[in-house]
Amino acid sequence: MNYPKVILKSGKDQSVRRYHPWIFSGAIKKIIGHVNEGDLVYITDNKDEFLAIGHYQIGSIAVRILTFEQKEIDDSFWKEKISSAYNLRKTFGLAENDTNNVYRLVHAEGDGLPGLIIDYYNGTAVLQMHSIGMYLNREHIVQALKDIYGSKLTAIYDKSESTIPFKSKIEAKNGYVYGQSGEPVVLEYGNKFKVSWEEGQKTGFFIDQRENRKLLADYSKNRSVLNVFGYTGGFSVYAMHGGANVVHSVDSSKKAIDLTNENIALNFPDDNRHEAFAVDAFEFLNDIDNKYDLIILDPPAFAKHHNVLHNALQGYKRLNAKAIEKIKPGGILFTFSCSQVVSKENFRKTIFTAAANTGRSVRILHQLSQPIDHPVNIYHPESEYLKGLVVYVE
Ligand code: SAH
Repeated sequence: MNYPKVILKSGKDQSVRRYHPWIFSGAIKKIIGHVNEGDLVYITDNKDEFLAIGHYQIGSIAVRILTFEQKEIDDSFWKEKISSAYNLRKTFGLAENDTNNVYRLVHAEGDGLPGLIIDYYNGTAVLQMHSIGMYLNREHIVQALKDIYGSKLTAIYDKSESTIPFKSKIEAKNGYVYGQSGEPVVLEYGNKFKVSWEEGQKTGFFIDQRENRKLLADYSKNRSVLNVFGYTGGFSVYAMHGGANVVHSVDSSKKAIDLTNENIALNFPDDNRHEAFAVDAFEFLNDIDNKYDLIILDPPAFAKHHNVLHNALQGYKRLNAKAIEKIKPGGILFTFSCSQVVSKENFRKTIFTAAANTGRSVRILHQLSQPIDHPVNIYHPESEYLKGLVVYVE
């Protein structure tokens, strides 16, 4: 193992010994050997004791750790790691399943592979790399995927253009690295969804809401449902399945609304319970007094950084206060935040303030999180990002 060596300052080895996968630039005492962005580095404490191997990057997170063992980072390393992620999905019934062929295969730090996201869409793997180190290992990753899936894999699409750190010299372009195109219709609990990884947001579909969508179906019978920030209409399809009387989807993006209509037609041809509106959520909510008794609020991350946390919380509060104020008596609200910087406690406090502002009686029925294919690495609490509450408004 002839990697450049990163020696940590005294005391800065503590978090690595507790398996946290990041090393901040301020923790580094010195680097021995020439190191380029994306290179593998060997990490030691200040007494030269081995700690870990990771990818070096310019920026405040200087190293993302791949292993705490002394081993080669070669083809078999990648295959072992990605197989372990695959086996977890398979063991818990997501992979190789008749009613489900969409899942997150690799959830970055959550699966011990910082900087790497792989989503699987019915034969197409979509890669999203957030670090140069991962990007430089693309060939190993592609090989591992081919070995694991064999002929089931029809395509691999790399969508790292906008996720690779913009200051790096690498000019990542989106495109197929294997195959030419894939089957765009996927199955989630038997529901059909058309996914466009080339055009869509993120890797094409918000896989992380699967279990929460399923729960929503149980609450939908005979209700008037409003799905706000609907994107592909995921929650709307489940509400229809659950027996809602009427389902309205709202998204400011016309493309998202077109996709929602397509997905509803795929699952419910000739069913006229659904209507979609390409309008701003805040405006739409002004005019919904007593119209709906099941409302979903799943906005994009309002805060990407801690310095805008306060404004983000204000945004969540305003949004939720409107919904709680206007929902029919006996209504149910499914409300979410996918901002990593908003903690579970902060989110709950925000919904509490929103409820208190309306003066209505509100009870929490469920506290929701992310599903098993978005696992949280216990040593890296930052991998937890999705939180939701289901509340009953009397
Ligand atoms: N609930 C969705 C994911 C939502 S992603 C699912 O289950 O798949 C957030 C969506 O909010 C995006 O589609 C985006 O277009 C939309 N959006 C962002 N700002 C908005 C606004 N002000 N009003 C309405 N929609 C908005």
